[in-house]
Amino acid sequence: MINYTITQAAELLHKKQISAVELTKEYLQNIANTENRVHAFTQLNEKQALDSAQHADQKLHNGSANKLTGIPIAIKDIMNTVDWRTTCSSKMLENYQSVYDATCISKLKERGMVIVGKTNMDEFAMGSSTETSAFFKTFNPWNLEYVPGGSSGGSAACIAANQAICSLGTDTGGSIRQPASFCSVTGFKPTYGRVSRYGVVAFASSLDQVGTFTKDAHDAAILLEALCGADSKDSTSAKQAVPAFSQDLRDGVRGLRIGVPKEYFAQGINPQVESLVRKAVQELQNHGAIVKEISLPNTKYALAVYYIIAPSEASANLARFDGVKYGLRADGNDMWQVIEKTRGQGFGDEVLRRIMIGTYALSAGYYDAWYLKAQKVRTLIKAEFTDAFKEVDIICAPTAPVLPFKSGEKIDDPLAMYLADICTIPINIAGLPGMSIPCGFANGLPVGLQIIGRPFDEQTILNTAHTYQKLTSFHKEQPKL
Ligand code: GLN
Repeated sequence: MINYTITQAAELLHKKQISAVELTKEYLQNIANTENRVHAFTQLNEKQALDSAQHADQKLHNGSANKLTGIPIAIKDIMNTVDWRTTCSSKMLENYQSVYDATCISKLKERGMVIVGKTNMDEFAMGSSTETSAFFKTFNPWNLEYVPGGSSGGSAACIAANQAICSLGTDTGGSIRQPASFCSVTGFKPTYGRVSRYGVVAFASSLDQVGTFTKDAHDAAILLEALCGADSKDSTSAKQAVPAFSQDLRDGVRGLRIGVPKEYFAQGINPQVESLVRKAVQELQNHGAIVKEISLPNTKYALAVYYIIAPSEASANLARFDGVKYGLRADGNDMWQVIEKTRGQGFGDEVLRRIMIGTYALSAGYYDAWYLKAQKVRTLIKAEFTDAFKEVDIICAPTAPVLPFKSGEKIDDPLAMYLADICTIPINIAGLPGMSIPCGFANGLPVGLQIIGRPFDEQTILNTAHTYQKLTSFHKEQPKL
């Protein structure tokens, strides 16, 4: 099975040793060989992929190509694409076809990337296992009885299974980093506002962020360069210059101050996860990093804060799926009945649960007690990180406190599922950039190291990850599918 990084494939394409059409065909073949077991895609369209590849070949011939031209990419089915449906893995949007491309999609198209398919996800990005998809479950390529993580489980699994070279996901509370950890791939969530959210279906607008799945940190740097940047169509996108991440990539951590927060190794952490993550930090220390234990005591409030703020924002955002403005429409005698029936039929249990929690938290009399209080604690959590970053340059922690779990194991226990994100959620609350990279295996299941940085300092995270990946080869291991 072919298995390229962006860098390797780009070299072959530019030296004309392979054409974009040939490369795309290879990946479509990989998909054909594995998809009946992995189930990473909600939509595949060979003809469309090959048409884009042909277009990429023209670019490669007429000299207008760049590093991303002709590279096969998969897209989480939450980003608007004119050429594909955008379902959010929900019955509500099963047949929804957007009339415009999300900004992140336009940017990839401009560079001549080849979209091979849209990937499966937890419905409306609510979940940690890709089991709440209304269509089917995605499985972990490392062990098909296990979940790939979520909500961007399809985007993570397809990279582990070599069904594409890179993919896009979104991360509201961990949905890029946690599945990257579970599938042993490199996942990057940039600083809030770094990548435009225009055309990305909103879950929790103050937390949502687009990011990448790749084979390594170097590829993440290349893809992020293309994605990041201010967008006049998204007022929350940051007016910050985008560094040349891949050109500025440095190998070496001498003198880098790494903070290791003790609360991230607290009760409930799997001892095998703890030992692999500590070993990874040790590796960086052996190569000159200065490691120090830090404390982030407000970590204990992060989950509670998230499960007030995210559902509140979701309840407002999902109000548009009423059968009138968007999506599925059930029949009814009047408007209220249409809305009631539409939502009853179109949303799965987890989505309904979030809408109910959010509506409750925002209702008159409860707003101050719940939502406002959560916002205040959010400010404290953010301040705590700001203080920590006065003493350290980077924070290292586990991505998830547990190993990938079995399919079906937690789906009936929402609280157990929510706990899978305890190490990733605080980073969204504070709007910081975070990354997960493979750091080993326990019982044959992947473990991820999370690297967290200062706002808009993606470069230091990438440099740290790049250094680690030069020293280790976990990111090169392949599942036997
Ligand atoms: N698992 C978390 C949730 O269910 C995070 C999801 C996400 O990042 N989109 O809300």
